[in-house]
Amino acid sequence: MDVDTRLAEAWVRAMAAAVEKEHGRLTELDSAIGDGDHGSNLRRGFTAVLAALDAPDAPAPAGPGAVLTKAGSTLISKVGGASGPLYGKAFRAIGGALPQPGEAPADAAGLGEALAAGLRAVRELGKAEPGDKTIVDAWTPALDAYRAAVAAGGGLPEAAAAAAEGAERGALDTVPLQARKGRASYLGPRSIGHQDPGATSTALLLRALAEAVG
Ligand code: ADP
Ligand code: MG
Ligand code: MG
Repeated sequence: MDVDTRLAEAWVRAMAAAVEKEHGRLTELDSAIGDGDHGSNLRRGFTAVLAALDAPDAPAPAGPGAVLTKAGSTLISKVGGASGPLYGKAFRAIGGALPQPGEAPADAAGLGEALAAGLRAVRELGKAEPGDKTIVDAWTPALDAYRAAVAAGGGLPEAAAAAAEGAERGALDTVPLQARKGRASYLGPRSIGHQDPGATSTALLLRALAEAVG
């Protein structure tokens, strides 16, 4: 299986559907250690992403990279919170790392490189280290699990499923951490004992990839 335009669009639609279904839970988590807008931020963003994808005058995307770059740009322009620029830059990086039209399409390893570029973008912008109780704490184990699945001979379905599991594990593992980045860091030790909203949304977005692939 290759990473084609159809798969990129299916991933974007699955992400939007997951956010639509789970925004209440994300906002609840953000109410405990943030300002209670993470679900509504992502909902506004992905509603706009879908609108851009489905706009009657939208030109047909020039490949899977263009679909994800456009999604990223839309998130940056529509989401005011920390997560908008972070996910926006991540998806722009993923789109930019995928083969351009005329090049051979990405396979499982190629999508792994693109996901690594996404994580680098998050870390460059947000300066969070693993353990700071952020998006990085879901994305890092997801990428590790994705790469391990590819190294073990897995294709896209196996690798994407491993990434989703890694991200879900990483999100759960944020519970005992003290936040050192973002609004939750203002709480100091009182951020301990709560699951990070952004790590939780990363798990949703990567579960959506597994669904789109599977
Ligand atoms: P805001 O905090 O501006 O209201 P959101 O509620 O949409 O934005 O997003 C909060 C999430 O963003 C946090 O749960 C955390 O996972 C993530 N986050 C915040 N700062 C950073 C950072 N510097 N690096 C990575 N992720 C971050
Ligand atoms: Mg918030
Ligand atoms: Mg906010």
